[in-house]
Amino acid sequence: MRPDFFEISSLTNCKICPRNCGADRSSKKLGYCNSDASFNISSICIHKGEEPIISGSEGICNVFFSRCNLQCVFCQNFQISKNNEDVINHQISLEEIVNRIKVHLDNGCKSVGFVSPSHFIPQMVAIIDELNKLAVKPIIVYNTNAYDKVETIKALEGMVDVYLPDFKYFYNELAKEYSDAIDYPEISKAAIKEMFRQKGATILKDENGIAESGLIIRHLVLPGNVENSIKILNWIADNLSTTVHISLMSQYFPTENVKSHNILNQRISETEYQSVVKEMENLGFYRGWIQELESASTYQPDFLKNHPFDFF
Ligand code: SF4
Repeated sequence: MRPDFFEISSLTNCKICPRNCGADRSSKKLGYCNSDASFNISSICIHKGEEPIISGSEGICNVFFSRCNLQCVFCQNFQISKNNEDVINHQISLEEIVNRIKVHLDNGCKSVGFVSPSHFIPQMVAIIDELNKLAVKPIIVYNTNAYDKVETIKALEGMVDVYLPDFKYFYNELAKEYSDAIDYPEISKAAIKEMFRQKGATILKDENGIAESGLIIRHLVLPGNVENSIKILNWIADNLSTTVHISLMSQYFPTENVKSHNILNQRISETEYQSVVKEMENLGFYRGWIQELESASTYQPDFLKNHPFDFF
C-alpha cells in the first residue's frame, strides 16, 4: 500500500524530508525549503553530461525542481537551489510537465532524472503516475543530495530504477557549516544503505549500455577537505562494498557566493584530487568514474538559458 506522504495533500503538514517542519505548504507559511504544494520547476531539459551510462548518446531528460532542502553555501546550481525569491522557478501544470517530458522521450531519450527531488516527493510521484497512465515507462533516475528520510527511500522501491545520491559529508560540523544540516551524515548514510539494500552493487544495462537499474554514489571533492572525502570512501568500503560504483567528481568551482570564503574560494588542486583517487584505488574500488580537473571549467550550467547544458 502507498504511504500517505506520497499524496500532495500530505504537504499541509509537511514532514517529507528530514527537516520535519510540519509546515502547511498550501498556505503562505512555508517551511525551510520555502516551497509550496504546487509543481515548482526550474528546468526540464536534456543533459548529456551525467555519467556515460546515465546520459547515453541521447542524454537524459532531467526535471530540475526549484529550491532545495539543503542550502550548501557553495552550491554549483545556486540559480535554482536557493530558498529565496531570486530562484529560477516556474509553476507549471502537471499536464505541461508531462507533455514536455514526453517530447524528449519521443525524440529518443530513455531516462527521466528527478534532480533535487527530496522536498517534492509527492509531485515527483504524481509525474511518474501520469506518465505511467499514458503507458510511458521511462527509466526513473533519483538524483538526490541524499538528505532523504529512509522511509521515503523504502517507499520508492519499485518506482525508482537508478539511485544517484550525492554523499557529501562525513563530519557533522562540516555539514552544519556548509549545508546547514548537522545531521546530514547519519541521515545520508541510512538513506544510501537502503538504496544499496534495494539495488546492490550491480548495474543492469540495456543493449546500448544505459543503466536500467542500480546505484551510483557521487562524491564532489571539496577544496581543503580531502580528509572528508577519504572518510566517506572508507565508510562505503566498510559498510556497503568496494564493488559499488563511485563517481568521484573534481568539477567543484567557486561561485560568486563563496568568493570571500577562505577555503571554498578556490578549485581543488591536482594533488588533492589525486590523493582521493589513490585512496579509492587502495581501498579496492574498481567500478565508477573519475574526472579531469578541467571539468571545473566545463560543467557550469546556466539555468537562465533554455538549454542550461548546451556546452555538451
Ligand atoms: S520538504 Fe520543506 S517544508 Fe517539508 S519538511 Fe522538508 S524543508 Fe520542511
